[in-house]
Amino acid sequence: MIEIKDLHKSYKMGSNSLHVLKGINFNVAEGELVSIMGSSGSGKSTLLNILGMLDEADSGSYTLDGVPIKDLNEKIAARYRNKFLGFIFQSFNLISYKNALDNVALPLYYQGMKRGERIEKAMSYLEKVGLADWAGHLPNELSGGQKQRVAIARALASDPKMLLADEPTGALDSKTSYEVMNLIQEINDEGRTILVVTHEPDIAAMTKRIVNLKDGKIIQDTRVNQVRALENV
Ligand code: ATP
Ligand code: MG
Repeated sequence: MIEIKDLHKSYKMGSNSLHVLKGINFNVAEGELVSIMGSSGSGKSTLLNILGMLDEADSGSYTLDGVPIKDLNEKIAARYRNKFLGFIFQSFNLISYKNALDNVALPLYYQGMKRGERIEKAMSYLEKVGLADWAGHLPNELSGGQKQRVAIARALASDPKMLLADEPTGALDSKTSYEVMNLIQEINDEGRTILVVTHEPDIAAMTKRIVNLKDGKIIQDTRVNQVRALENV
């Protein structure tokens, strides 16, 4: 699914530059559930954004599902990203004036799907995350855990091959975090590849593989015995 070789990324800050990723080599096979850990500022989001084609590396290679990303022009890259990738964020990033159903249906609108079909599909994803009864509610009428479920349904709506989640439980209490991770595990059980950035060891323990970043490099990459969410609740 993912192959990256000797990836480097620096941020320019005036006349200085901050070298954040210093030669990352990393492969992810289809169906994996991987967590990326590391202290604040270690480059987790930077790496995830590059993997999600939201940002570009300075050097090194990145092949996603067999396609070298650098060779794509902007328009094709955007289409490729929308087709292959779903994103989940700490702050949910829902549209505040749209109800849960319309939030989930939005990516389908951008794909050109007709309204009836869009609503039906969005509803099926809301059902999948256990929120069918909340379809007509606005984000500010939902709890944090419910908001994240809506965001997960939205990420799934375009049927992406891979989900990228940056601190998906960062704004949630621990019980709700385990519930959201339980959902992420279920989605992974169905065969979808998922990368989760987290700084919480309990959350990382619920994935199948933990990658540790430090000083711009991967210092540890370990397969773990996945803790199933329900054991924690
Ligand atoms: P956190 O756990 O706090 O989210 P992180 O591991 O996700 O941290 P990054 O956001 O990848 O870390 O940032 C890595 C370093 O790069 C930090 O020192 C940060 O200040 C810097 N950085 C990130 N984005 C930019 C940017 N757009 N411009 C300049 N510097 C940046
Ligand atoms: Mg971050």
